[in-house]
Amino acid sequence: MRLSKYFLPVSKDVPADAAIASHQLMLRAGMVRQNGAGIYSWLPLGHRVLRKIEQIVREEMNRAGAVEMLMPTLQQADLWRESGRYDDYGAEMLRITDRHERDMLYGPTNEELITDVFRSFVKSYRQLPLNLYHIQWKFRDEIRPRFGVMRGREFLMKDAYSFDIDAEAARRSYQKMFCAYLNAFDRMGLTAIPMKADPGPIGGDLSHEFIILADTGESAVFCDKALLDIPAPGADLDFDSDLTAEMEKRTQYYAATDEKHDEAAFEALPKEQQVAARGIEVGHIFYFGTKYSEPMNASIQTSEGDKALIHGGSYGIGVSRLVGGIIEASHDYKGIIWPDAVAPFDVGLISLRPKDDAVATACEEAYVALTEAGLDVLYDERDERPGAKFATMELIGLPWQMTIGPKGVEKGVVELKRRETGETSELPLAEALAMIKGGR
Ligand code: ATP
Ligand code: MG
Repeated sequence: MRLSKYFLPVSKDVPADAAIASHQLMLRAGMVRQNGAGIYSWLPLGHRVLRKIEQIVREEMNRAGAVEMLMPTLQQADLWRESGRYDDYGAEMLRITDRHERDMLYGPTNEELITDVFRSFVKSYRQLPLNLYHIQWKFRDEIRPRFGVMRGREFLMKDAYSFDIDAEAARRSYQKMFCAYLNAFDRMGLTAIPMKADPGPIGGDLSHEFIILADTGESAVFCDKALLDIPAPGADLDFDSDLTAEMEKRTQYYAATDEKHDEAAFEALPKEQQVAARGIEVGHIFYFGTKYSEPMNASIQTSEGDKALIHGGSYGIGVSRLVGGIIEASHDYKGIIWPDAVAPFDVGLISLRPKDDAVATACEEAYVALTEAGLDVLYDERDERPGAKFATMELIGLPWQMTIGPKGVEKGVVELKRRETGETSELPLAEALAMIKGGR
């Protein structure tokens, strides 16, 4: 992509109403534009990151056996009356009336809708287990939308719903999601710690929030330091195997958000193991048994021919929140530092003197070579001061910067810089290309 043909409205000014780094950087880097409180347009650069995160989530959900679909944002109120949540949900639900005076709402979540889909089509235990998910915009009329996309009103969520014949089978579905989440966050360059969360009406131990540590996080969190160093299960994990041990690797250690915090248990840890920090909730998984199947009468036939209510779980990931969360975890005073897997482009190519024919030719050659190697390149060929070009590249935080100027052209080299470390080397184009490919 040539920068002159792109749409990247960057700004030097720190926006006055943005309180935290990720919000400031997203506005300055031209990633989003606020439309109303907690409602944003995703500008091209932000949109690229959002789609990358979404794709990682999708791949990890698929790997764990979940099946993608898409439900609407607008829902009929009737289903929510069946579950009893139309009245219970409160002011966070945006209620709408259509021209026929029918009550509708902008979905804050989809348990009712998916339960209705399920009960309409699934009648036998043979069709289980089933896990259906979608990646769709949600609306919650948050009382205090803030921190940019981190607590928006309209936000993108991946929500998955599992259906099982009994509690034991539901536990296995839960474990799959637990492991899939670890892999998904790991691929985004994040250490997300599963923390015991409020289990809701049925109790039990099957509710975890996945938290990344950040000083600007909204929740106070407490955990054992050991949790920061356990590697994710990885792509080789067999999701059809028993995942209890994989889960227990983590659940054996203390970890809880302030709501579930047990001061005595935490204080019992050796001092150097105690991590008391702030965190951002990027995901939440939850087993709720027959909470929806009972009022909505979603039952199936068992192998004995009886009827049984299905046991459900729901599993959310804040896709748009993650964009902000990743920036909170990875930035410096100059700008964003994108982890490779979610970067909007892999390489920023900077021409130091676009009007110099030899430089322009070398840049074109590099642009073609990088692109043909399968890399996404943002090529700054504009006639601008080098200082401004560098500042923009640092701000938008692409993992690699390749700079080409008259001196390098004479020597037959390009300058390659890794954004994360600031390390710079001068080397021939082919070697630079190999270094970028090797670093991915
Ligand atoms: P929170 O405690 O942050 O309000 P929640 O517990 O209400 O979130 P869930 O219903 O568990 O959220 O939703 C699943 C995920 O969606 C959360 O883990 C979070 O990452 C994301 N999410 C929830 N609310 C918002 C929001 N207002 N803006 C952006 N992302 C959100
Ligand atoms: Mg939650």
